[in-house]
Amino acid sequence: MPKKRILSGMRPTGKLHLGNYVGALENWINLQDEYENYHLVADYHVLTTDLDTTDIFNNTIEMVMDWLAAGLDPVKSPMFRQSQIKEHAELFLIFSMLITKARLERNPTLKEQVRDLNIENLVYGHLGYPVLQAADILLYKGEVVPVGEDQLPHIEITREIARKFNMQYSSDKPIFVEPEGKITNFARLPGLDGQRMSKSVGNTILLSDKPDVVTQKLRKAVTDPQKLRKNDPGRPEVCLVFTYHKKFNPSEIPSIETDCRSGVLGCVDCKMKCASKINLILEPILEKRKTYENNIESVKEILIEGEKKARSVAQQTMSEVHNKMLMG
Ligand code: SF4
Repeated sequence: MPKKRILSGMRPTGKLHLGNYVGALENWINLQDEYENYHLVADYHVLTTDLDTTDIFNNTIEMVMDWLAAGLDPVKSPMFRQSQIKEHAELFLIFSMLITKARLERNPTLKEQVRDLNIENLVYGHLGYPVLQAADILLYKGEVVPVGEDQLPHIEITREIARKFNMQYSSDKPIFVEPEGKITNFARLPGLDGQRMSKSVGNTILLSDKPDVVTQKLRKAVTDPQKLRKNDPGRPEVCLVFTYHKKFNPSEIPSIETDCRSGVLGCVDCKMKCASKINLILEPILEKRKTYENNIESVKEILIEGEKKARSVAQQTMSEVHNKMLMG
């Protein structure tokens, strides 16, 4: 039986942090044997919220180095830049005729962004970015899209567009499948201050942080505010460091929980235990990243190879679209 196809991507924001790893990348790596994967560097998507393109190329290379260093295999999982496959823009244009402005304005993720980023004059491209996402996914006939829960409304829009296209132009033999969202198990890892992990806030641990940097950062992580002295009893359920232990040090969870509650374990020791577990996970990633940092050309070649594979699939889909829509 042929493998189902996954399409997933990230905006090129430069070096990735642990939140990106836990929320997406780790999942991509785990799924790469079970599915046929395509991974997109969503460089056009960046323009929806930032017109400055100065750093896009460098940020792309930094991010792709993290993908590779963490274990994404470019042979199993071709990786490519959205901007290098012009069919994305073409399918986006066609799809933008199949959805109303009112439907896009109801998108809860957009409403949240407008509120959080204090956007007064929403640009047309930002309103329509779920349509570009639909083009990204359907161009490769992605059947599965790994997402966080906040992205599910976008998958719904993609499904609606696929349905509308099929009904309008290819009801005899549908071109597009309606993709399913696959929720990431450990969807969100908070930052060191307990808020959403984000480089703009400065509360991240990067995949490329050296061990002493990780340890330093962990020292400043928030814990249970009521545990002021080492022997005070703590509440792991309100402690960020405990959340990190759950993810990176699951085997020690029962003892940490007991010792925290009883006051036997102090926060400094607990944080150091956590730092050493995170460093164990990051060690091979750092090592592998070094080889790519010393050979940036190889990263560019991986992208060019991925783009060849992606372009061939995208061109095939567009030829089917043209046949159904425009060839009578
Ligand atoms: S001992 Fe560990 S789990 Fe308990 S409050 Fe301190 S850092 Fe958190």
